[in-house]
Amino acid sequence: MLYARCPGDCSKCPYRNLPLVYRIASRRRGESLGINLYPGRKVCSFDCLYCFRGPTAVKTLSPFDPGYPAPGDLERALELALGDSAGVRSIDFSGNGEPTLHPRLAELARVVRAAAERHGLAASVGVFTNSSTLGERRVVEALRLFDHVEAKLDTADPAKFEALNRPAAGLKLGQVVESLKRFRREYGGTLAVQVMLVDAGPLSNASPEDAEALASALSGVEPDEVHVYTVYRPPWAGGVSKPERDRFEEFARVLERSGFRVKAYYE
Ligand code: SF4
Repeated sequence: MLYARCPGDCSKCPYRNLPLVYRIASRRRGESLGINLYPGRKVCSFDCLYCFRGPTAVKTLSPFDPGYPAPGDLERALELALGDSAGVRSIDFSGNGEPTLHPRLAELARVVRAAAERHGLAASVGVFTNSSTLGERRVVEALRLFDHVEAKLDTADPAKFEALNRPAAGLKLGQVVESLKRFRREYGGTLAVQVMLVDAGPLSNASPEDAEALASALSGVEPDEVHVYTVYRPPWAGGVSKPERDRFEEFARVLERSGFRVKAYYE
C-alpha cells in the first residue's frame, strides 16, 4: 500500500511513487505502519544472503542521508496513512536497509510520535536494526525515543557472521555483541533480539550448537524477548532456504531452556 506519494508531479523525480509509509500485518508487531527511510535504493551495513530486498546498493557503516524523505515528507505521508489508522498497533522504522544509518533518525522519530499523538493513536513506536551501529552515541540517543527495538543477532560464530550477514569492512561480531550489551544497560524500552535461521549450502546457523553459542552470547545482553524466525519471502541469493521444522523448533527450545522468553515464527 502506498501512502507516500509526494504531492508534486515531477516526472523525472527518482523518488516518485516510492513508498515511505506502508501498512503491514507484522507477525511480530501486529497490524503496523512501516516506515522506509531509504525508498530509492537499499542502504545497509550488511548484505545478508537471505535479504528479500535484493543486494545492498550502498554498503556503509557511516551515516547516510539520501535527502528524501526529509522530516516534512514523512509528516505528509503519515498524515495520509493515519487518516485510516483503525487497528494499527505499532509504527516501525524498517524498510529498505538499516534505519539507524539515517543521521536524522531522532528527528524523524519525533515526527512519528507527534503525528500519532495528533491522531490519538496509542501505537508502540519501534525500529528494526541489524545492531551494527549500537556502539554509536548518536544511535543510542535516538533509540531512546523508541518504545521497542528489534535488534538482529543471527549467530555467535564470527565466520558465520561474515558469510551470512556480509558486514561492511571493519565490523566484527565481537563489537556487535559488546554494543548490544551496553545498549541493554542504557535502554529502558522493550529489547527483542531477532534471529534469522537459514541453510545456505554448507552454511547453516540453525544447529543446537549454534543455539548454545547464541544463548551464551545473549546471556550478557538480557533481552526482554528473543524472536526466532526463518525465510518467508524469497532471498536475493540462490540456495538459501528454511531449516527443517524440527531443527528450527529444537533451536528455539535450546534458547528457552537457557532462560529466554522466546517467540518462534516458522511460517
Ligand atoms: S540487515 Fe536487514 S536490510 Fe540489511 S541486508 Fe540484512 S536483512 Fe537486508
